[in-house]
Amino acid sequence: MADLRDMYQEVILEHAKSPRNYRALAPPAHKAEGFNPLCGDRCTIYLATQGDVIEDIAFQGNGCAISRASASMLTQALKGKTTAEAEKLFKSFHSMVTGQNANGDRASLGKLEVFAGVSEFPARVKCATLAWHTFEAALHGEGEPVTTE
Ligand code: ZN
Repeated sequence: MADLRDMYQEVILEHAKSPRNYRALAPPAHKAEGFNPLCGDRCTIYLATQGDVIEDIAFQGNGCAISRASASMLTQALKGKTTAEAEKLFKSFHSMVTGQNANGDRASLGKLEVFAGVSEFPARVKCATLAWHTFEAALHGEGEPVTTE
C-alpha cells in the first residue's frame, strides 16, 4: 500500500477513524445498501428528506479508509442540501475521481477535493464512489442492493 501513501491525506484518515453521522435512521427514512466486491467495502446509507431537502443523512458500513472517509464526508456535504444540489455534487465528485474534469467545477466540492488523488488509482475509484452510488439508490428508492461491478 506504499503507493497509496500520497493520497492518504490526513483528513481522509481522520474521517476513516472517526466517521461522522455513523448511525442508522429509523423508517420512514430511505435506506440503501452498497457493496464494492473489488475491495470488500460495504455501505448502508440512510436518508430522510423533507420535500426536496435532505433533512438528515447517515451511514453505516465496513471497508477501507477511502470508502469510510468518503461516506463520512458525503453525509457532511449533503445534509441540508436539496436533492438537485446533491445530484450536481455527485456529478462533480465523480468527474473529479475519474480524472475527467481537469478544469471542471471543483469549487463546489469543498473538502471533498481531498479525494482528487483517487483518480490516479483506478481501483480505488469504486471505493470513493460507493457511498455516492448508494446515496443515489436511497434517493430513488431502488430496492436492489448496489454493487460497483
Ligand atoms: Zn475500498
